[in-house]
Amino acid sequence: MTKKVVIVGGGIVGCMTAMELVQRGCSVTIVERNQIASQTSGESSWAGGGIIFPLLPWLYSEHVNALTSSGANIYRELSQRLQSETGVDSDFDQSGFLLLPNFDAEVAQAWCARNQLPMQAVKASAFGVQSLSGEDALWLPTVCQIRPPYFMQAMRKWLEKNNVTMLEHTELMPLKQTPTLTGWQTVNGETLTADQFVVTSGAWSFELLKETSAKLNVKPMRGQILLYKPLKNLDQMVYREGFYMIPRRDGYLLAGSTLEDVGFEAAVTQAVRDELSAKAEAIMPELKNQPIIKHWSGLRPGTPENLPIISAHPSIENLYLNTGHFRYGLTMAPASAQMVVALMFGETPPIDSMPYACPV
Ligand SMILES: Cc1cc2nc3c(=O)[nH]c(=O)nc-3n(C[C@H](O)[C@H](O)[C@H](O)COP(=O)(O)OP(=O)(O)OC[C@H]3O[C@@H](n4cnc5c(N)ncnc54)[C@H](O)[C@@H]3O)c2cc1C
Repeated sequence: MTKKVVIVGGGIVGCMTAMELVQRGCSVTIVERNQIASQTSGESSWAGGGIIFPLLPWLYSEHVNALTSSGANIYRELSQRLQSETGVDSDFDQSGFLLLPNFDAEVAQAWCARNQLPMQAVKASAFGVQSLSGEDALWLPTVCQIRPPYFMQAMRKWLEKNNVTMLEHTELMPLKQTPTLTGWQTVNGETLTADQFVVTSGAWSFELLKETSAKLNVKPMRGQILLYKPLKNLDQMVYREGFYMIPRRDGYLLAGSTLEDVGFEAAVTQAVRDELSAKAEAIMPELKNQPIIKHWSGLRPGTPENLPIISAHPSIENLYLNTGHFRYGLTMAPASAQMVVALMFGETPPIDSMPYACPV
């Protein structure tokens, strides 16, 4: 019999989970209180920079890196497939990543060597950028990017073509503890039924489950980004001390981002605009004369040590969790979807799922 699944939240994590389930023959409904692939203030997936790499992987645990590297390995083929099946190009681009000082070069190079990530010690000026903190940079030529709003459009089209039901502008109520979930109520009083349910509601996941035994340590972490269109763009992504710039193929340039613990406040601020533009101009002085075209924010699903929760619910039999991907949900989403779906099918996931178990 076809397994019926309801997914709560239509960001990248919900959409990738739906794709994985459809490929296993499930009948899938995504419930999204806004619109899937729309650019709604607050949600994280469209707002992200789209770097398919965990910025400084040597600072993270092997469990974070297991998901980011597995996810990153899937993207090239996934973007090609989405393009051929939907006609939407998600701007996948191996633009490479230039790491400017200060960073621990010894640790970085040792990590790259251990993980067979191609790297080269270079001089920053050879890449046409200004490095106020020193010339000794590291070039990672295989790091890729996608353009999140385009990728989400491609996902949406693929899901439509594959008969996923999208219940948009539909919000689910916080859940009460129960041994088995027979139905989940919407705020309009409708009850949705399914064999299995998956929570992929990003920064809002704690609120949704706090009356159950799952104690999700997920909280919103705002990130702001600026958009430029410089006369001459960078050829590669550049990172310097917590700040990055991402050139798009059509001449746009992103500069971001912040990590702000301000609850569910999604508004952008002048102070951050000034801070980010100063950092961007320090690397590319020519930006001083360029207008900021756009300034936006997203609320990441923040978790301690950036470790997502990919797990069965601890005490609701047919409920699963795939949330809390914090800074790297775009990178992790394909691998994370494979893991949760394996658990839903009673299989052993390709990566050991124990480190991502739900706190109780
Ligand atoms: C500024 C910024 C830059 C980033 N850059 C990168 C990057 O370069 N690389 C990278 O890998 N990651 C990046 N990220 C992180 C990445 O964007 C997130 O980790 C990822 O988008 C999380 O996806 P999600 O699907 O869990 O959450 P979301 O996209 O927030 O989706 C959750 C969805 O659930 C819905 N929802 C919530 N509650 C309910 C409810 N009760 N009923 C129905 N629907 C509900 C919400 O409306 C929302 O659409 C960045 C994030 C930000 C903000």
